[in-house]
Amino acid sequence: MTRRKALVVVDFQNDFAHPAGSLFVAGADRILPRIDSLLCSAKGRGDLVVTTQDWHPADHVSFAATHGLPAFTLRDGDITWPVHCVAGSWGAELVAGIAPSQVDHRVLKGFEPGIESYSGFGGREFTGAAAGRNLEEILRESGVEEIDVAGVATEYCNRETVLDAVRLGFRVRFHTSAARAVDAAAGERAIAEMAAAGADIV
Ligand SMILES: [Zn+2]
Repeated sequence: MTRRKALVVVDFQNDFAHPAGSLFVAGADRILPRIDSLLCSAKGRGDLVVTTQDWHPADHVSFAATHGLPAFTLRDGDITWPVHCVAGSWGAELVAGIAPSQVDHRVLKGFEPGIESYSGFGGREFTGAAAGRNLEEILRESGVEEIDVAGVATEYCNRETVLDAVRLGFRVRFHTSAARAVDAAAGERAIAEMAAAGADIV
Protein backbone atom coordinates (compact mmCIF):
# COMPACT_ATOMS: atom_id res chain seq x y z
CA MET A 1 0.00 0.00 0.00
CA THR A 2 1.39 3.36 -1.00
CA ARG A 3 0.99 6.06 1.61
CA ARG A 4 2.35 9.46 0.79
CA LYS A 5 2.47 10.73 4.37
CA ALA A 6 3.74 9.49 7.69
CA LEU A 7 3.61 10.67 11.30
CA VAL A 8 6.82 10.10 13.26
CA VAL A 9 6.40 10.36 17.04
CA VAL A 10 9.83 10.75 18.59
CA ASP A 11 10.75 9.10 21.91
CA PHE A 12 7.40 9.50 23.66
CA GLN A 13 8.54 7.05 26.34
CA ASN A 14 7.95 6.95 30.08
CA ASP A 15 11.48 8.07 31.01
CA PHE A 16 11.02 11.25 28.93
CA ALA A 17 7.29 11.89 28.96
CA HIS A 18 5.98 10.54 32.30
CA PRO A 19 6.58 12.67 35.42
CA ALA A 20 8.10 9.61 37.15
CA GLY A 21 10.57 9.07 34.31
CA SER A 22 14.32 9.27 34.97
CA LEU A 23 14.86 12.00 32.36
CA PHE A 24 11.45 13.67 32.36
CA VAL A 25 11.18 16.56 29.90
CA ALA A 26 9.18 19.24 31.75
CA GLY A 27 5.68 19.59 30.33
CA ALA A 28 5.95 16.50 28.12
CA ASP A 29 3.04 14.86 29.94
CA ARG A 30 0.83 17.81 29.01
CA ILE A 31 1.33 17.35 25.25
CA LEU A 32 -0.13 13.83 25.22
CA PRO A 33 -3.53 15.18 24.02
CA ARG A 34 -1.74 16.90 21.11
CA ILE A 35 0.17 13.73 20.24
CA ASP A 36 -3.07 11.76 20.46
CA SER A 37 -4.80 14.22 18.16
CA LEU A 38 -1.99 13.85 15.58
CA LEU A 39 -2.21 10.06 15.88
CA CYS A 40 -5.97 10.05 15.36
CA SER A 41 -5.74 12.41 12.38
CA ALA A 42 -2.96 10.34 10.82
CA LYS A 43 -4.88 7.09 11.28
CA GLY A 44 -8.02 8.75 9.94
CA ARG A 45 -6.21 9.76 6.75
CA GLY A 46 -4.52 6.39 6.38
CA ASP A 47 -1.04 7.84 6.98
CA LEU A 48 1.75 5.58 8.14
CA VAL A 49 2.50 5.93 11.89
CA VAL A 50 6.01 5.31 13.17
CA THR A 51 7.32 5.73 16.71
CA THR A 52 10.97 5.98 17.69
CA GLN A 53 12.31 4.79 21.05
CA ASP A 54 15.63 4.99 22.83
CA TRP A 55 16.37 1.35 23.65
CA HIS A 56 19.64 1.26 25.56
CA PRO A 57 21.71 -1.50 27.17
CA ALA A 58 22.35 -0.86 30.90
CA ASP A 59 25.96 0.14 30.15
CA HIS A 60 25.18 2.48 27.26
CA VAL A 61 27.88 4.97 26.24
CA SER A 62 25.51 7.94 26.75
CA PHE A 63 25.01 7.16 30.45
CA ALA A 64 27.14 9.17 32.90
CA ALA A 65 27.24 6.16 35.24
CA THR A 66 28.92 4.06 32.54
CA HIS A 67 31.91 6.37 32.86
CA GLY A 68 31.68 6.90 36.63
CA LEU A 69 30.60 10.51 36.09
CA PRO A 70 27.78 12.57 37.61
CA ALA A 71 24.83 12.96 35.21
CA PHE A 72 24.98 15.85 32.73
CA THR A 73 28.80 15.97 32.73
CA LEU A 74 30.28 16.70 29.31
CA ARG A 75 32.44 13.91 27.95
CA ASP A 76 34.32 14.49 24.66
CA GLY A 77 31.89 17.34 24.02
CA ASP A 78 28.79 15.16 24.47
CA ILE A 79 26.42 15.50 27.38
CA THR A 80 26.14 12.35 29.51
CA TRP A 81 22.71 11.39 30.82
CA PRO A 82 21.15 9.69 33.81
CA VAL A 83 20.36 6.04 33.09
CA HIS A 84 17.22 6.07 30.91
CA CYS A 85 15.22 3.92 28.50
CA VAL A 86 16.97 0.67 29.34
CA ALA A 87 15.70 -1.97 26.92
CA GLY A 88 12.72 -3.85 28.32
CA SER A 89 12.22 -1.52 31.30
CA TRP A 90 9.11 0.52 32.13
CA GLY A 91 11.00 3.70 31.30
CA ALA A 92 11.69 2.51 27.76
CA GLU A 93 8.04 1.78 26.98
CA LEU A 94 5.89 4.23 25.07
CA VAL A 95 3.60 6.16 27.43
CA ALA A 96 0.35 4.36 28.14
CA GLY A 97 -1.63 6.97 26.17
CA ILE A 98 -0.19 5.68 22.90
CA ALA A 99 -2.07 2.51 21.98
CA PRO A 100 -0.05 -0.18 20.19
CA SER A 101 -2.91 -0.41 17.65
CA GLN A 102 -2.17 3.19 16.61
CA VAL A 103 1.43 2.38 15.62
CA ASP A 104 2.46 0.72 12.34
CA HIS A 105 6.20 0.54 13.01
CA ARG A 106 8.35 0.88 16.13
CA VAL A 107 11.91 2.01 15.47
CA LEU A 108 14.43 1.41 18.26
CA LYS A 109 17.75 3.26 18.53
CA GLY A 110 20.87 3.35 20.66
CA PHE A 111 20.60 -0.39 21.31
CA GLU A 112 24.32 -1.08 20.88
CA PRO A 113 26.49 -0.21 23.91
CA GLY A 114 28.90 2.08 22.07
CA ILE A 115 26.54 3.80 19.64
CA GLU A 116 24.34 6.81 20.43
CA SER A 117 21.65 7.96 18.04
CA TYR A 118 19.52 11.00 18.71
CA SER A 119 18.07 10.66 15.21
CA GLY A 120 15.29 8.21 14.49
CA PHE A 121 17.09 7.57 11.21
CA GLY A 122 19.85 5.84 13.19
CA GLY A 123 17.39 3.23 14.46
CA ARG A 124 15.87 0.00 13.22
CA GLU A 125 12.44 -1.50 13.39
CA PHE A 126 11.52 -3.73 16.30
CA THR A 127 10.79 -7.10 14.78
CA GLY A 128 12.27 -9.49 17.32
CA ALA A 129 14.96 -10.17 14.71
CA ALA A 130 18.48 -8.77 14.82
CA ALA A 131 18.21 -6.59 11.74
CA GLY A 132 14.90 -4.96 10.93
CA ARG A 133 14.49 -2.14 8.45
CA ASN A 134 15.75 1.32 9.31
CA LEU A 135 13.46 4.34 9.33
CA GLU A 136 14.41 5.51 5.86
CA GLU A 137 13.71 2.06 4.39
CA ILE A 138 10.33 1.89 6.13
CA LEU A 139 9.31 5.29 4.76
CA ARG A 140 10.65 4.74 1.23
CA GLU A 141 9.14 1.28 0.90
CA SER A 142 5.74 2.71 1.90
CA GLY A 143 6.01 5.48 -0.70
CA VAL A 144 6.18 8.23 1.93
CA GLU A 145 7.33 11.66 0.78
CA GLU A 146 6.06 13.89 3.60
CA ILE A 147 6.42 13.40 7.33
CA ASP A 148 4.95 15.06 10.37
CA VAL A 149 7.26 15.03 13.38
CA ALA A 150 6.34 15.47 17.06
CA GLY A 151 7.62 14.28 20.43
CA VAL A 152 10.63 14.91 22.66
CA ALA A 153 13.09 16.40 23.12
CA THR A 154 13.13 19.27 20.66
CA GLU A 155 16.82 20.19 20.82
CA TYR A 156 18.02 16.57 20.77
CA CYS A 157 16.08 13.77 19.11
CA ASN A 158 13.46 15.94 17.38
CA ARG A 159 16.19 18.18 15.97
CA GLU A 160 18.35 15.34 14.67
CA THR A 161 15.39 13.43 13.24
CA VAL A 162 14.02 16.50 11.44
CA LEU A 163 17.41 17.54 10.04
CA ASP A 164 18.12 14.01 8.79
CA ALA A 165 14.68 13.80 7.18
CA VAL A 166 15.23 17.09 5.33
CA ARG A 167 18.70 15.95 4.20
CA LEU A 168 17.18 12.73 2.88
CA GLY A 169 14.72 14.70 0.78
CA PHE A 170 11.51 14.29 2.76
CA ARG A 171 9.16 17.20 3.16
CA VAL A 172 8.95 17.74 6.92
CA ARG A 173 6.44 19.47 9.15
CA PHE A 174 7.46 19.90 12.80
CA HIS A 175 4.63 20.30 15.30
CA THR A 176 5.79 22.64 18.07
CA SER A 177 2.61 22.27 20.13
CA ALA A 178 3.18 18.50 20.26
CA ALA A 179 6.84 18.78 21.25
CA ARG A 180 8.84 19.86 24.30
CA ALA A 181 12.48 20.81 24.88
CA VAL A 182 14.69 20.04 27.87
CA ASP A 183 15.79 23.69 27.79
CA ALA A 184 13.34 26.20 26.31
CA ALA A 185 15.98 28.49 24.77
CA ALA A 186 17.84 25.57 23.22
CA GLY A 187 14.51 24.32 21.88
CA GLU A 188 13.88 27.68 20.19
CA ARG A 189 17.35 27.59 18.61
CA ALA A 190 16.72 24.04 17.36
CA ILE A 191 13.39 25.08 15.83
CA ALA A 192 15.11 27.99 14.03
CA GLU A 193 17.70 25.55 12.72
CA MET A 194 14.99 23.17 11.46
CA ALA A 195 13.25 26.06 9.70
CA ALA A 196 16.51 27.24 8.12
CA ALA A 197 17.12 23.71 6.85
CA GLY A 198 13.74 23.73 5.10
CA ALA A 199 11.32 22.12 7.56
CA ASP A 200 7.86 23.65 7.94
CA ILE A 201 7.23 24.70 11.53
CA VAL A 202 3.62 24.59 12.67
ZN1 LIG B 1 19.11 7.93 25.17
